[in-house]
Amino acid sequence: MNFTLTILGSASALPFSDRNPSAQALSVHGRLFLIDCGEGTQQRIRQEHLSFVKIEAVFISHIHGDHVFGLFGLLSTMSLYRRVAPLYIYGPGNLAPIIKFYLSYFGQDLGFEIVFQDVADGLQLPASVAKHVTVSAFPLNHKIDCYGYRFDEVVSPRRNPWKPRSYAYCSDTAPFGGLCDAVRGVDILYHEATYPVEMENKAEQYHHSTTRQAAACALDAGAGKLLVGHFSSRVKDIRQLEAECREIFPETVAVNDGDVFEIPYIREYEKMSSDIPDDALRADSSV
Ligand SMILES: [Zn+2]
Ligand SMILES: [Zn+2]
Repeated sequence: MNFTLTILGSASALPFSDRNPSAQALSVHGRLFLIDCGEGTQQRIRQEHLSFVKIEAVFISHIHGDHVFGLFGLLSTMSLYRRVAPLYIYGPGNLAPIIKFYLSYFGQDLGFEIVFQDVADGLQLPASVAKHVTVSAFPLNHKIDCYGYRFDEVVSPRRNPWKPRSYAYCSDTAPFGGLCDAVRGVDILYHEATYPVEMENKAEQYHHSTTRQAAACALDAGAGKLLVGHFSSRVKDIRQLEAECREIFPETVAVNDGDVFEIPYIREYEKMSSDIPDDALRADSSV
C-alpha cells in the first residue's frame, strides 16, 4: 500500500546533464501515474526502473514545452512495448488538438487507445484507479491555461484505518489567494520555486513564484512538507533556494532528479502526518 513520489525532472525550460524539465511519477497502491512529461522523461524512467507500460494515466499541467515535449516519444515507446491498455491523459483543452495531430501521423499502429479528458470539464478516473485515489484539478495562475493536481488516497475505513495520504502538484504558477485552499492539509506539496527572492520581478513578469512565495503557500495551506523545483537556469546553487524557503517553512526540500519520497501510512489514532520525521519521508535522495 505504497504512496511514492519520484522526481523525474526538476528544471524549468532548459534541460541540463543532471536535471530534466518537469516530470514526476506517483505510485499509489502500485498504480503508476505520470505528472507532466518534459524532455528526458523516458531516460529518467529507465534510470528509476519504472515501467513504461504500467503508467495508467498522465496528468499534464499546461502546454509549455518543458512540461509536454517528452509525451510524444513516450507514446511511441509504449506502442513498441505492445501496450494494449488504454492510456488516460488529463490536461487543459488545448492539449487535445496536439494529441490529435500526433495521432494523425503516428497513431495508425499505436495499438492502444488514448482517452483524453479536458480537466476544465471535471476529472473522471477509470473505476479501477478511483478505488485507490481521487484526483482533482485546480487552475493555477500562469501565462496560459494551467492546472495543478491533488491526489488523495482512498482508504476503506473498515479494513484499513490509517490516515489517507495526499499529494499536490503546483507548477507553473504565480502566487494567488485561492491556491492554499486547493492544497490545504496535504502531506506533501510540490510548488514551483523558479526564482530566488532577489528575482521577484522576474517571477512576476513570467507568472512564476519565488522561494518565499512557495513557502508562504505551504505555510498557509498547513502542508506537512514542501518540495520545491522548476529551478531557473540562472540558479547555480539550489541550497540557497532551499534555505530561503526554510526561513518561512522549515520542512522544505529543494529536489533533485531521482529523488524518491515515500509517505508511510500511519494509523489514524497513532499520529498525525505532520509528525512524520524527515527521514521517513525521504526514502532515497541524492541531495
Ligand atoms: Zn515550466
Ligand atoms: Zn509554463
